[in-house]
Amino acid sequence: MTRLEGKVAVITGATGGIGSAAARLFASEGASVALVDLDESALRDVVRSIGEDKASYTAADVTDPEQTEAYIDAAADRWGGIDILLANAGIEGTLSPITDYPVDEFDRVMAVNVRGVWLGIKYAVPAMREGGGGSIVITSSTAGIGGSPEMSAYNTSKHAVIGLMRCAALECAPLGIRVNTVNPAPIETRMMRSIEEMRVAAMDDTRVTVGVTKQSIAEGIPLQRYGDPEEVARMMLFLSSDDSSFCTGGVYMVDGGRSAGNPYRN
Ligand code: NAD
Repeated sequence: MTRLEGKVAVITGATGGIGSAAARLFASEGASVALVDLDESALRDVVRSIGEDKASYTAADVTDPEQTEAYIDAAADRWGGIDILLANAGIEGTLSPITDYPVDEFDRVMAVNVRGVWLGIKYAVPAMREGGGGSIVITSSTAGIGGSPEMSAYNTSKHAVIGLMRCAALECAPLGIRVNTVNPAPIETRMMRSIEEMRVAAMDDTRVTVGVTKQSIAEGIPLQRYGDPEEVARMMLFLSSDDSSFCTGGVYMVDGGRSAGNPYRN
């Protein structure tokens, strides 16, 4: 298929579960993909699996303005412009009530999940404008539309990027740049393994009130399972391609029905 033929996509968090699935899917649909993440050898592996004729990488920390400018410039130089930004890098933070939540950990989550997305938009928009438009897709979460006990930093950050998306969608509409969020429920990646470990450990921790297993998390999803990274990537593909040409400013759930009910937990 060639839904992204001739397009250039910058993907952050590109060695993670969802980012690497999107990188492979976008490349298979004809895009050139510029991958961004922290670890160079992991980036090299993903590029190799896609092919150097379709993929490039820049090791960068999305919280850093200079490194953000550098990964955008490197993508535009390598592929001749930028059409798509998938602002996907994210961290889960720790599990703790607000009263015990470490302040530096709160700042770290907000830096990666919010500042990182804002910086990506800040530096990608001028490059996209030069090319006559484009699409920005931000990975939010079901945690962006509801609360979860002991995950205040993560849920706050995922709500914040919906506000950011709405502002960017309004600012960028006259430039022909669409901006949307994708909001997954639990997906089979490293991040959920980490959250499960913290939740299971919490069952013996009196400070934390919500201890749950993977099974009980999955049972809270009407389809009774986690999603696969590729099921999220397919929504990202839709929003990145011209198939979604009239979609901007929207929140797109990929959640097995979870947002149809309560509670919205990770
Ligand atoms: P993941 O941990 O596999 O991938 C996240 C990637 O982001 C990692 O490769 C990590 O190295 C990268 N990253 C972290 N900090 C970075 C930084 N400062 N600079 C550059 N890269 C950085 O997890 P994932 O599930 O693939 O997560 C991708 C996105 O999806 C995240 O934004 C996450 O919050 C969101 N999300 C995940 C789930 C889920 O259940 N897995 C559900 C909803 C939303």
